[in-house]
Amino acid sequence: MPDESRTPFHARPQDEVLRTLDSVPQGLGAEEAARRQARHGPNRLPEPPKPSALRRFLKQFDNLLIYVLLASAGVTAALQHWVDTGVILAVVVVNAVIGFVQEGRAEQAMAAIRGMLAPRTAVLRDGRRVSLDAAELVPGDVVLVEAGDRVPADIRLIAACNLKAEEAILTGESVPVEKAVAPVAEQAALGDRTSMLFSGTLVAAGAGRGVVTATGAETQIGRISGMLSQVQTLTTPLVAQMDRFAKWLSVFILIVAAALLAYGYYVGHLPFSELFMAVVGLSVAAIPEGLPAVLTITLAVGVQAMARRNAIVRRLPAIETLGSVSVICTDKTGTLTRNEMMAASLATADHVYAVEGDGYAPEGAIRLAEAEADPAEHAILAEFARAAGLCNDAVLQGAEDGWRVEGDPMEGALKALAGKITRAGPEPFAFWARIDEIPFDAAHRYMAVLHRDEAGQACVHVKGAPETVLALCADQRAADGGTAPLDPDYWHDMVERLAAEGERVIALATRSMPPDQADLDAGDLEGKLTLIGLVGLIDPPRPEAIEAVAECHAAGIRVKMITGDHAATARAIAGQIGLQNTQRVLTGADVVAMDDADLAATVVETDIFARTSPGDKLRLVTALQAHGLTVAMTGDGVNDAPALKRADAGIAMGRKGSEAAKEAAELVLADDNFASIAAAVREGRTVYDNIAKVISWTLPTNAGEALTIVIALFLGMALPITPVQILWVNLVTAITLGLALAFEPTESGTMRRPPRPRDAPLLSGRLVWQIVLVSALFLAAVFGIYAYAVDKGYALPLAQTMALNMLVVLEIFYLFYIRNLHGSSFRWQAVRGTRVVWICVTGVVAAQFALTYAPPLQAVFGTAPVPLADGVLIVVVGAVFLALVETEKQMRLAFAASAPDRRA
Ligand code: ADP
Ligand code: MG
Repeated sequence: MPDESRTPFHARPQDEVLRTLDSVPQGLGAEEAARRQARHGPNRLPEPPKPSALRRFLKQFDNLLIYVLLASAGVTAALQHWVDTGVILAVVVVNAVIGFVQEGRAEQAMAAIRGMLAPRTAVLRDGRRVSLDAAELVPGDVVLVEAGDRVPADIRLIAACNLKAEEAILTGESVPVEKAVAPVAEQAALGDRTSMLFSGTLVAAGAGRGVVTATGAETQIGRISGMLSQVQTLTTPLVAQMDRFAKWLSVFILIVAAALLAYGYYVGHLPFSELFMAVVGLSVAAIPEGLPAVLTITLAVGVQAMARRNAIVRRLPAIETLGSVSVICTDKTGTLTRNEMMAASLATADHVYAVEGDGYAPEGAIRLAEAEADPAEHAILAEFARAAGLCNDAVLQGAEDGWRVEGDPMEGALKALAGKITRAGPEPFAFWARIDEIPFDAAHRYMAVLHRDEAGQACVHVKGAPETVLALCADQRAADGGTAPLDPDYWHDMVERLAAEGERVIALATRSMPPDQADLDAGDLEGKLTLIGLVGLIDPPRPEAIEAVAECHAAGIRVKMITGDHAATARAIAGQIGLQNTQRVLTGADVVAMDDADLAATVVETDIFARTSPGDKLRLVTALQAHGLTVAMTGDGVNDAPALKRADAGIAMGRKGSEAAKEAAELVLADDNFASIAAAVREGRTVYDNIAKVISWTLPTNAGEALTIVIALFLGMALPITPVQILWVNLVTAITLGLALAFEPTESGTMRRPPRPRDAPLLSGRLVWQIVLVSALFLAAVFGIYAYAVDKGYALPLAQTMALNMLVVLEIFYLFYIRNLHGSSFRWQAVRGTRVVWICVTGVVAAQFALTYAPPLQAVFGTAPVPLADGVLIVVVGAVFLALVETEKQMRLAFAASAPDRRA
């Protein structure tokens, strides 16, 4: 409850703020938090009002085709052709219902995904650090923030270290503001309240903690109404393009229809009412009215399929881009490896110790040459323990199913190491007070802390990448506990030795400080540290990542590892994972030394980039894109955001990734796992294929239906299919066959094809050819059956019913053809189909039987029962049609396979 009737929080000292909010620096208890949540509600901004269901339903009628149909219904009503009017209105209603249901489903898919991306936040509850859904925050909670976090509520700082916040969304100021604990003037403008962090702003650097002063709508951002709604429409460039195409096609068709009406009336002297219905039937048949809706459903199905595989799409166009990815640049730690670390070896100036244990349990033996090393006899081990335990922000939590880490897994492993050495549980140094710190940053690759022990002695502990830490050291700890001059060659050899095993190597160092030292900066470290030794940590590769890398290679996608880790470690892991080129490693320093041209020349053939800093990633993406490659890039830190934005598909880590990285990314991996990237690529390809399939099915069938009427009109013959019958076919197939393809599963060869070129047109020459071929075959078959029936002396209604059933049978067979655009339709797997396909086919067949044999429908649609033999004939013609188009496809595929390999 922001008590701003008095001095505002930003102008009050921190302890007074804590008192006002009835909180303590260790945070609230769980029960108190629950009470406050009941009082204040969830920490969420009020949602923008959603349009009502009725409104969304009525919106479906706002569509060119519907206007035409409603007008036509008016005309037929005026002519008192009630059956026609009824059928037309049925088409209108069914269309609106389909659109409504599909839109609802698509929105549901998106809403579910928004839920999966709910931000989490680190909070102290009962004195313990826990990670919570930001919605659970209440005033008085003590929150921990670090670089890359989105501030979850309005917060009064109680501790801050190099803290900077980017507050552009509130103040418009894009330069990050420095934040500190000291109160500021009461009248300070929002941008000058440096003692506060505001909900929705971004922590640009440093770390801090503070007490929540306001949540939800009470926050500064909550008070600014109008900027809350970020509606994302379910579309991608391709689908939007198809949408525009469908609109213009409709206009084109309506012009043709009008011209035909005029032609038939003035030139052909046809009676108006019949002619009018024919033209309406033609328009309904030709206009791909359902196409945009079906494509949207295809996207929604794709988004859901990706989410099931732990890939959460933040920006929909990414679905398309993912399908054309030709290079994946991935992190190593946690993505290719499990990020379940364990200290395995300790290297001192004289020995290499082996560490035993299980997971993160803080117990296990330290061995030297097979014998257990007693920490009492090996004084240096105690120093390892201190550095590992103090220079550490992770917390180990013992649970029934083993020990877990809250925080960085590597730090968790070091905490466990400290426990193994001291044999004093997970917090052996709880009585040391941390005075200041230099947080880890991927750009400088170390972390330093200043502590004072219970005797008042101050000392610094540093851990970080060996090269960095060695460069800060003046000497090294000798076996007798004294110091000796630093021997860089020895240590560098040792680093190579441990790293060659795939171990991540960390150096630990220390120095003592004057007891009154109150802060720590980089100047206190340079050339003043004493090296304690090295820790080698193992982090085994993920078995599923090994498979996924192989799958990517088969799919013509090159996988590159970009890591901040040591070159030798990177190479060892790359070998285990199965990257293509493990001979050559480029380091961040190499990358910096190259100009853009050199980099572009080497980047394609190099698969391992080690000791890179986030800035290098941006150059690597750009260099790869210069080769026309479509690049997917992973990232987690706040500094990775530019590279993620630049990449064609930026992929952020859902677990260890910062909010800043997630917001810059198109895709978020819920499990940080490389295998999920491969799965997303596969789904991306599937969605693209399905979009192509939906279009390849819709356009030729529409053209076939429409041309049947056009040609009959021009030839001045009786229509082989009457207009109401055409409306019926449209109605029935739109709900069934037209929709089935949106749910198609991945074709079996999908991940064995090279990536699709990024600029490949959807309406390719091939598709145009297919439209021509298929509509011609449709015409031939429909007119053929009709001619056969007339020739046999059948009455007109029977001939028309046979032609109508022929059309539907062709559409069913054509569906089976389209399902396997890249393979053969004559395999058991293809014939077996899927549940969705069979539901749809059964639905259409049932509808056709009803239309043909049920008297009430016969009365409305003017149909007649078809004799069994003729029914069989129709199905046989359908099968012959499938055989024809399938053979044509195989001929084309044979040519494509023998053509030179055009992959990038
Ligand atoms: P990766 O690509 O493996 O995720 P990072 O950029 O996270 O690499 O880390 C690069 C290097 O920085 C590591 O190899 C390690 O030497 C060092 N490092 C990583 N995390 C920490 C940390 N919390 N404290 C100190 N040093 C760290
Ligand atoms: Mg990392």
